[in-house]
Amino acid sequence: MTLTVVGSIAFDAVRTPFGERDKMLGGSAVHFSLAASYFTTVRAVGPVGDDFGPDEFAILESRGVETDDIERVEGGKTFFWRAHYGHDLNVAHTDETQLNVFGEFEPKLSDASRTADALFLGNIQPELQRRVRAQCDARLVALDSMNLWIETTRDTLAAAIAEVDCLMLNDAEFRMLTEEPNLARAARAVMEMGPEIVVAKRGEYGAALFTADGFFAIPGYLLEDVRDPTGAGDSFAGGFLGYLDAEDPERASPETLRRAMAYGTVLASFNVEDFGTERVARLTREEIEDRYEALRRLTHFDLAVT
Ligand code: AMP
Repeated sequence: MTLTVVGSIAFDAVRTPFGERDKMLGGSAVHFSLAASYFTTVRAVGPVGDDFGPDEFAILESRGVETDDIERVEGGKTFFWRAHYGHDLNVAHTDETQLNVFGEFEPKLSDASRTADALFLGNIQPELQRRVRAQCDARLVALDSMNLWIETTRDTLAAAIAEVDCLMLNDAEFRMLTEEPNLARAARAVMEMGPEIVVAKRGEYGAALFTADGFFAIPGYLLEDVRDPTGAGDSFAGGFLGYLDAEDPERASPETLRRAMAYGTVLASFNVEDFGTERVARLTREEIEDRYEALRRLTHFDLAVT
């Protein structure tokens, strides 16, 4: 199975209470690709500037991510995002967003990317998400977005959402999108827009899944040392969709979806242990399975004895 992702490919400048980085590899497509690479073949699509060099490509390629559809624009500058976090690490405060090469990007997918089994439309302008969606006939398509696009391009975003199977946002974004304060009602409103699978990411508190079959919730994996939450949502999506793609996207049974939620939680928990891509880029499948088992144990409880 293969999985195509479009989204930002970025340099991030991030400050948290536990340290800072001036220029690190980031972007929704990058965090997603690295996490999903532990499960399936990933093809990343998007533009970068000529400031994006062999070291950055090497991080993706060392995880086997296919980079042929990453277009290097001569004279262009890579997408740049500057943000800081206070003690509530669930809230990123954006200080600067420079679209740079994404401002002019005209996606043209290769045949290999076009014919992938699954597609992730990572956080980027909704118009670009739609243009990629139109070129790809994947059997499972998921979309992520953020407050910026809900505020500035709501109608295009709604059109993009209507064309996908799965919407993944954080809970505040669901409320903003649907103008519905209750999450269960917000999820129902989203299903009326088109997607059959709705995933609410809730930062350190975990994630919730809504489908026609019902509701499932999983806590975050509790860690004592968290350094930088940047990319946790995309790593969650990478674990979730990477696992679904490996299992066959057409057979997304309720049980498979629950396991995908657990793998998403595991990848997100590794992401926050270090800055940027530093932790997820150097994981092993064994570490992933060990934490999956630990998460399974800590969320298990027995029938009550009466
Ligand atoms: P997350 O923490 O999972 O929500 O995603 C953080 C990543 O999203 C960072 O690596 C940023 O480069 C990227 N990002 C931030 N703002 C935007 C935006 N407006 N469009 C696309 N990507 C963004």
